[in-house]
Amino acid sequence: MDYPGNLFVVSAPSGTGKSSLVKALLELDSRLQVSVSHTTRKPRGQEQHGREYWFVSKDEFNAMVEHGDFFEHAEVHGNCYGTSRKAIEERIQHGEDVVLEIDWQGALQIKQIFPTAILIFILPPSYEELLQRLNRRGEDPQDVIDLRMANARIEVAQAQHFDFVVVNALFESALFDLKAIVHAQRLKYAAQRRNKSVVFRALDLV
Ligand code: GDP
Ligand code: ADP
Ligand code: 5GP
Repeated sequence: MDYPGNLFVVSAPSGTGKSSLVKALLELDSRLQVSVSHTTRKPRGQEQHGREYWFVSKDEFNAMVEHGDFFEHAEVHGNCYGTSRKAIEERIQHGEDVVLEIDWQGALQIKQIFPTAILIFILPPSYEELLQRLNRRGEDPQDVIDLRMANARIEVAQAQHFDFVVVNALFESALFDLKAIVHAQRLKYAAQRRNKSVVFRALDLV
């Protein structure tokens, strides 16, 4: 599928800082929109229906799968997650840049549908630091943290299939790297031809 905007897909093991980084990126860049996924996971303390996720029951989720409502969906840490067509179709048709915060299985499915999607994997500096962040965040019970730590080893092994890798050691450095990736996509020839059409016409460029 072809589209004029950029589709950024960000994946990372749970606790790496993916949501914090994407949130900071969106605050700095009004041209970026995040896609709100559906999940069967229960909301955490501050999470709101329609803001972090659309929280749905297993039955509702399965019905959406059967209706073909998802671009991609996957089971992650024992819950179902999916990107609905509705969440991104209209935005990418209008050429807006969209960020998906999804797991690696979803990222690879998206790359099949949108070959020009930009896949970014965020790595934690170490497993020790990852565990500390999950504990410090204090949102998940011990068994959930154990499962996420076990899955982290499987997840980081997928980074090799991504276009870009950002290490989130120092938050501001990782944010800088993310901004650089977004900025570079907007300087590609096809994007510049659209955004700088006056210059391109003045120079008789097609
Ligand atoms: P987090 O890892 O601490 O951010 O925890 P979450 O419960 O928010 O997310 C769990 C996993 O599901 C993460 O790997 C997310 O990237 C992934 N995820 C979230 N939304 C989607 C989605 O729409 N599709 C897919 N495939 N994965 C998703
Ligand atoms: P994810 O969305 O990848 O699960 P979060 O954005 O929820 O991760 O971050 C997990 C925890 O780590 C949060 O408490 C967050 O404030 C913290 N965190 C994020 N980035 C850093 C960093 N570079 N250094 C230290 N702590 C961080
Ligand atoms: P959490 O439950 O901590 O919010 O998210 C756990 C994992 O699920 C994260 O890695 C997150 O990126 C992933 N995730 C969230 N939404 C989706 C989605 O729509 N699709 C897929 N494939 N993964 C998702």
